Formats: sequence, C-alpha cells, structure tokens
Amino acid sequence: MKKIFVLLLALAALQLNAQDLPHFKKVVKELSSAKYQGRGYAKGGANKAGKYLEKEFRKAGVDEITLQPFTININTFCGKAEMWADGKKLRTGVDYSMREYSPGVHGEFPVYHVDTLNFNADGLFEDLAKPENAGCLVCCDFWFTYRHREVFSRLQKAGECPNGGLIYTWEAPIKFFKAYGEKVVDKPIIWVTPEAMEGVKRVKVNVDNEFLSNYELFNVIAKVEGARHDSCYVFTAHYDHLGNMGKKVFYPGANDNASGTAAIVTLAEHYAKNRPQYDMYFVAFSGEDANLRGSTYFVEHPIVPLSQIKYLFNIDMIGDDNPVQYCEVSDAGMSQYPKFEQVNAEQQLFEKLDRGALAANSDHYPFAIRGVPCIFLENQEGSAFPHYHTPADNFKTVRFESYEPVFKLVTGFIDK
Ligand SMILES: [Zn+2]
Repeated sequence: MKKIFVLLLALAALQLNAQDLPHFKKVVKELSSAKYQGRGYAKGGANKAGKYLEKEFRKAGVDEITLQPFTININTFCGKAEMWADGKKLRTGVDYSMREYSPGVHGEFPVYHVDTLNFNADGLFEDLAKPENAGCLVCCDFWFTYRHREVFSRLQKAGECPNGGLIYTWEAPIKFFKAYGEKVVDKPIIWVTPEAMEGVKRVKVNVDNEFLSNYELFNVIAKVEGARHDSCYVFTAHYDHLGNMGKKVFYPGANDNASGTAAIVTLAEHYAKNRPQYDMYFVAFSGEDANLRGSTYFVEHPIVPLSQIKYLFNIDMIGDDNPVQYCEVSDAGMSQYPKFEQVNAEQQLFEKLDRGALAANSDHYPFAIRGVPCIFLENQEGSAFPHYHTPADNFKTVRFESYEPVFKLVTGFIDK
C-alpha cells in the first residue's frame, strides 16, 4: 500500500513537470517541413501552418480555440529566381537574395562598383550619367550605403539617376528580411556576398516578385480555463516565417520560430492536464516577420482586456543551445523579474539570464508599450543562431537544449 502511494506521488510529480521533448521535436519537424514552404504568405504556407496548429491545440485538450483574421500588404518572391555574375550561376538564398521591398528584376546589366575609398557623391552621379553606365546596377558594401543613405536612397527612385538598380554586398551568410516588405520601391535591390561580386562586370538576373494586397492571415488563440477568470497568463509565439525565395528555395525557420510555437503547444497540453489557477491563453501569432502585424492586430482587438494579463511570455527562437538565456522585460514586468532569477537559480536551469534593453524585435513589444507585464525569451548566440533568416535554419541545425529549461522557467514562475 505504502509502495503504491509513493509511486502515485512520483507520478504526480512527473505530471507537474510535464515538459514533453518528443512532442516539441515533432511539432518543430512538422512546421519546418517542405509542406509549409517556410510558412510565408504567397504560397499559403503560413495559413496552412495555422490550420495545423488549430488541430494540435485541439489534441492538446484546450477548451476553446479562436482564429483571429487580419490582413497585410506584402511583397513576395515565389516565382522565378536566378542570377549569374559574369556567367557564373549564383545560389539563390546563399550567394544572393532580394531586399524585401525590391521589385522583380529581369535582364542583363553592367555593374558599377562604387569607389568607397575615394567617395564623392557628385562624382558618383556624374559617372552614372555617362552612356556606358546606362542602366547599370550600382554595387556597394551595404554598411557604406547605410552611412550615405541620403545618396543611395536617390538611386532607388525612378527619374533621379539612370542606374537600373542596386546591389548591396553583405558578408555571408546572406540573410532575408521581410519587415519593410509592405511597399515596393522603383528599382531592384539585391543582396549578394562580396566574394560573388568581386571584380564582376556584368550580371544577369531573372527574379519575379508578387505584391499581395489585403492578404488574409490569422492568429490562433487557444484557451485553457483556470479556476479564476478575473485575470490570466498569456503565452505567445509567432508561427509565420519568411516563406520562399524563388520556387525552389524556402526558409524552414525551425529555430525562428517553429521552436517557440512548439513550446507553447506543449505548454497548452501541460495546463490542459494540470488545471491552472487562472485562465491561460496560448497565442500563435502570424505576420511577425512582416513587422509584428499579428501581435499589433491583437493588442488593437484584444479578446481579453490587456489590463487582465498578469504576465505574458513571448517565446521566439529557443531552438538553440546557449547555456545563457537572453531575455527582455517590459517596465510593467520588472517588479516580478527577480522571480525568474530565483526560479532559474533554484532549479539550476540556465547558467544565467542575460537581460537586454526592450526592443521592437518580436511580438512582446506591442504589449510592452501598452503596459502589459511581459518577458521575451530568445536563446541567442548558440550554435543554431548563425543560421537566423537563412535557408539553413532547418530541422538539422535547430538545437533542443533550451526547450526544457525555458519550459521550467515559465511554469516555475507561474507556480511562484
Ligand atoms: Zn522570430
């Protein structure tokens, strides 16, 4: 009898700490598979992933699921994508990618290399007006163009200069961003590695773009009812990612952010089995990589008053292995921050928590600036981190070390 009692106690303790690594891995693998094409917008990958998550939350045993639709305008590259430099074919997504607000580009162009050592803006415009440079792509180190952006922004506009477009060189790995993809500028802008552009005289490019207006996406909101309904905890993670660069290349986003999404699915399952004191919401946002669009829509149309949120945990990129855990905390969340440090020390989860300044880098931000107590958890600078926003952020490079300590950190915080 006594033995059975001890066994029951042990089972109960297991249940209480029910992080579920196999389930976590399964969801990361599914979301980063080719089926969802990088969970982007043009091929419907993000919405397909949203439907999958709806099913996963249902299986997890949540009480209620709400799909919250919203629309975005977004530039995409899902058609042809090919580029050659002096006849040598470049690898899409590896040697080159497109600036998110670039139009498509088709044709063969002379390349004009900017002399950054003897730079003179007037001289540059004079040179570009010469007939031999007509229609050229102006090639320059990105950070140099950034320091002289009043000059280089003129090279993106029609009618200012006869150049055909711009090539920004950027050290490998070439990354793709979508945050400013809600518009398209007049002339094409291509990111290429410096090695691929060294001494290159002509390029041939064949890249299609498609601008989607009022494209519908949706947040997936799952609820587990607690004993009390006057306030709640909220777990958030974005499930969308960068989609495609051309027909063949896609950005699997296993770390960014299949990992955080999988984490909140297993948290939902945990709280569905271990009924919480307060209501719990698990919000999988879409449109994050298009400039926090899903979370911004949510705070403007909250399904629970923001003032009732006791604490919000935004989990973004925890598919990594750094023993130091990066976080950001909102002003309203700071008074409770020592509890995270306490839980971390007591349970020996991470070597330490490294708290950085609050920034508009993920979905906690729209909540933070509205006074919601919240923490952002992102495992930075581990071995998966260099693949951030590249096609190599996939199921082979994602790491699983941070999942369990993050799970214990947030559940331990709530227990306190
Ligand atoms: Zn992310």
